[in-house]
Amino acid sequence: MPFTTALNKRYLALNPLDRLRLLFDSFPAHEILFTSSFGSSSSVLLHMVNKVSPGHPIYFVDTGYHFRETIKYKEQLKKQLELNIIETAAKPNKHKFTQTNSTYLHNQDLCCFINKVQPVNELKKNHNIWISGLLKHQNANRQSLNIFEKKADIIKFHPILDMTKDEVELYIYLHDLPKHALVGQGYSSIGCTHCTRKGVEREGRWAGTNKIECGLHV
Ligand code: SF4
Repeated sequence: MPFTTALNKRYLALNPLDRLRLLFDSFPAHEILFTSSFGSSSSVLLHMVNKVSPGHPIYFVDTGYHFRETIKYKEQLKKQLELNIIETAAKPNKHKFTQTNSTYLHNQDLCCFINKVQPVNELKKNHNIWISGLLKHQNANRQSLNIFEKKADIIKFHPILDMTKDEVELYIYLHDLPKHALVGQGYSSIGCTHCTRKGVEREGRWAGTNKIECGLHV
């Protein structure tokens, strides 16, 4: 039986928090990569990971194009949950290229690759498991994912994959977690300013194009 099949069988019956507990009991913490976009539902996984492994590094990829509200939200959660956030970004000359070239207007895949995928690829080199907060209900692309997905260079771990929208809301409410300021303005999924519009679930991301993922999770 492939390694991830056995893991999926074991973890599926557990709730998200117990999945995280088992992961941190089973793998050395230094092998576990956790990234967060500090988007609309990020607080759930941030709270859970910090509960299971307080102080575990949380990597934030600064694309240089985030909403002011996202940066404020990151600082608010950092203070409230005492998070250990480590920021990373594209090499300055590469990011600058996407600014001067306005790459986000005519080649969004390249812009995402430079500002998101490459910085995360660097992080992946030093880790074996990558925790990500993907949720099945967010789009059709995510419906078929498993809790563990073996990729060429890393094993992806999606502990909250099967949480419903109501369960996410309830968790945020029960744990007194703050909400991203843009949620109250009609944004459901929040990425960069150039590529995010108001809308239900992820329909506001790269609206008007065929793009549905930034490239990190495909
Ligand atoms: S979401 Fe838009 S602005 Fe952000 S990195 Fe991707 S293309 Fe560039």
